[in-house]
Amino acid sequence: MYENILIPTDGSDTANVAVSHAVDLAKKYNARLHALYVVDVDAVNLSLGTEQIDRIRQGNFGEMHELQEDADDATGAVVDAAAEHDVAVHEEVRVGTPHDVIAGYADNQDIDLVVMGSHGRSGVRRALLGSVTERVLRSTHVPVLVVDEHEEA
Ligand code: ATP
Ligand code: MN
Repeated sequence: MYENILIPTDGSDTANVAVSHAVDLAKKYNARLHALYVVDVDAVNLSLGTEQIDRIRQGNFGEMHELQEDADDATGAVVDAAAEHDVAVHEEVRVGTPHDVIAGYADNQDIDLVVMGSHGRSGVRRALLGSVTERVLRSTHVPVLVVDEHEEA
């Protein structure tokens, strides 16, 4: 049923709770995990030129150490958790609009299940769901498991 499980992560505490659910499911189903971090192009647009953004798109972060670190921290947490449980994991960092990239990846990479947090790094709890999760739910036919941060694994 589940051979490829996508865990989109922004490195937030809630996403990391979702990671533990994803790892557990991957272990039980002998599935491969795909850890995806999206560099939000609209957020970086404000401070970067188009040349820098193009370089980042090609995976060359250059002097943008913070962006690189955010990406590494987020996907690295999945790699560590997966290694602990002997689960195969593929790390992916892409540049774009998070919900578009996540839904596109789910639809185009043979993903059977998406596991993601109800909220993320913005930490604002005014909404029941963060905007990235809400938009992913509206834009993919792949099943999505939404994990609340209070739901300990
Ligand atoms: P908002 O961003 O709408 O202000 P939020 O940050 O609390 O609110 P979301 O951004 O929707 O909530 O985050 C919910 C989940 O979406 C996260 O737990 C994570 O699984 C995923 N996610 C959010 N941003 C990214 C990203 N840049 N790359 C990959 N996954 C992401
Ligand atoms: Mn967010």
